[in-house]
Amino acid sequence: MSALQIPNITLKNGVRSGGDPVEIPQLGLGVFLVEPGETERIVSEALEVGYRHIDTAAAYFNEAEVGRAIASSGIPRDELFITTKLWNSDHEDVAGAFQRSLDALGLDRVDLYLVHWPVPMHGTALAAWRGVAETAESGRASAIGVSNFEIEHLQQIIDETGVVPAANQIELHPLHQRRELRAFCAEHGIAIEAWGPLAQGKSDLFERSAILDAASAHGKSGAQVVLRWHVQRGTIVFPKTMRRERMIENADIFDFELSEAEMAAIDALDEQRNFGPDPYTFDNR
Ligand code: NDP
Repeated sequence: MSALQIPNITLKNGVRSGGDPVEIPQLGLGVFLVEPGETERIVSEALEVGYRHIDTAAAYFNEAEVGRAIASSGIPRDELFITTKLWNSDHEDVAGAFQRSLDALGLDRVDLYLVHWPVPMHGTALAAWRGVAETAESGRASAIGVSNFEIEHLQQIIDETGVVPAANQIELHPLHQRRELRAFCAEHGIAIEAWGPLAQGKSDLFERSAILDAASAHGKSGAQVVLRWHVQRGTIVFPKTMRRERMIENADIFDFELSEAEMAAIDALDEQRNFGPDPYTFDNR
């Protein structure tokens, strides 16, 4: 099984002194809301197609299936990039939750471990971040980061611990561009990972003229144009799909380039419109 040619992004690893920088493939597969029983098949297909980066989470209840697909693929561990996430109810038991994730995945380390949500109403994000930093110090998470953290949440953990997240995984797509947050992350060397990079298929995004025009100019689909816009902005993406042909389509975005005018037309689609939960109020535990 040969790997697709996907560029890497270098993640900062601010935890271990002398730790190697961590390379993350800029495109992978996300497995949120993949039906139980389907994840193993889908991850196996993605690995066959040539994906090497998989984004899961304890809260997706499919880490064990991801792990089975990895084991049966026979692909050497160091050729894979596996991300998982600490759930909100586990902020004060990071060591236990991390071990449960490793056991489910059948791995002895992950490449990236993220605090899934800040749940600011509970005041536990700092404890979670300290716990996650310890997993990195133990060498069992090659890089660590957060997800759904707003500027003030990032500022707090950086100020209190001095440990800067390698990445922040946020809802990001042309209808919700998060410019201020992206600028803050850029300033601190925090890589941006987009969740819902295709706006979760919940909008008319692909029908907008900025997308249609670029798609016809380059002979690509709307989804490919949107994913290309992300990668040209330096964002890491892992669109979710249950369909093999879309796995191939979504990865076939490294042979064309959007012009400055096409990028600007997509930038102009920003409506600051989110489809997922608001990190300030999301309270699920
Ligand atoms: P996406 O933006 O990736 O959209 C997924 C939807 O788009 C599905 O309905 C899929 O349908 C459809 N789709 C995929 N490819 C194409 C295509 N080429 N053309 C048309 N439609 C397409 O949303 P997600 O929410 O899944 O985000 C991606 C990943 O981000 C998740 O899987 C998860 O790993 C992560 N995530 C993280 C969150 C967090 O809080 N940290 C929150 C949400 C997601 P179909 O399957 O039928 O192809």
